[in-house]
Amino acid sequence: MLDVIIIGSGPAGLSAAIYAVRANLQVLVVEKEYMGTGQVAESGRVDNYLGLNGLEGYDLGERFRKHAEELGVEFQEGEAVFFEKYGQNWKIQLDTGEIIEARAVIYAAGAFHRRLGLPEETAFAGKGISYCAVCDGALYQDKTVAVIGGGDTALDDASYLSGICQKVYLIHRRREFRGSAGTLQKLQATENVEIITEAQAIGIAGAKRVEELRLDNGRRLEVQGIFIAVGMIPSTDKIKDLVELDGQGYVVADESGKTCAEGFFAAGDIRTKPLRQIVTAAADGANAAMSAREYVSHME
Ligand SMILES: Cc1cc2nc3c(=O)[nH]c(=O)nc-3n(C[C@H](O)[C@H](O)[C@H](O)COP(=O)(O)OP(=O)(O)OC[C@H]3O[C@@H](n4cnc5c(N)ncnc54)[C@H](O)[C@@H]3O)c2cc1C
Repeated sequence: MLDVIIIGSGPAGLSAAIYAVRANLQVLVVEKEYMGTGQVAESGRVDNYLGLNGLEGYDLGERFRKHAEELGVEFQEGEAVFFEKYGQNWKIQLDTGEIIEARAVIYAAGAFHRRLGLPEETAFAGKGISYCAVCDGALYQDKTVAVIGGGDTALDDASYLSGICQKVYLIHRRREFRGSAGTLQKLQATENVEIITEAQAIGIAGAKRVEELRLDNGRRLEVQGIFIAVGMIPSTDKIKDLVELDGQGYVVADESGKTCAEGFFAAGDIRTKPLRQIVTAAADGANAAMSAREYVSHME
């Protein structure tokens, strides 16, 4: 019987694994992607992870995984599809049909950014298209960018980028924004922010990188960057009947990772929190592992 099964080998899952194995727990990491390291593998250059700046996201993820492997963490490829508590323990079924038993679960299955759905979006990913202003904003110092979206993330991104970029267009397809009225008011009063409502992006053009954003109102904006902030989708479909989720589908859990289901912990982008980054995911993993250790040590 495992002490802890960890679902997902992104920064949260790998950090949890390192803390769990060093606490002498029997641990297994289940990851659905071959040798996956989560969203970090999709990042370009990561410049905001303490002490390891300037690495490509893929290489940083490899380092995380190697660290866990060197400490003896075991991995299994597979998708966890069903979770069930029986007595004090958990049964986890994989897509292969295999059932694994563990005293505690750390669910670190992450989230993914909703795409806008433009045909050019994939081709320009990492070449002017970004889904994370805090991650990539610094690359657009004194440049012109567009932020697309109408919720709090889009407003916060526009506000953050207005302090870095020469000009920021904020584009929303409706007349009213869903995000905070206070932030919107500040943006309306910010000189280098232009708000364009009731307009949709219909095309992106550029030779090698993004150069132009085309809107359905006929405007063509000369931009070097486009930040798409139309929401994130947490990977909680498999556990939606098991734990409490907030209105956006994130697992309700604080820093300890404890959820309303005993012995089921959440870590990383999957849980309710204000900042979804590698550093906060790694911190969550450590905390969840310590919570799981304490939980397991009190079991009969
Ligand atoms: C393009 C991009 C650039 C970014 N740049 C930066 C940056 O510069 N700096 C920064 O700090 N952050 C950046 N981020 C954010 C950062 O990558 C995330 O906050 C972080 O990876 C979250 O880690 P996580 O472990 O919680 O989840 P994830 O990284 O999402 O990992 C979750 C893992 O769980 C696996 N999984 C999901 N469901 C299952 C299942 N049912 N069974 C088994 N496995 C499953 C997935 O395959 C995945 O490997 C960026 C994100 C993106 C997308």
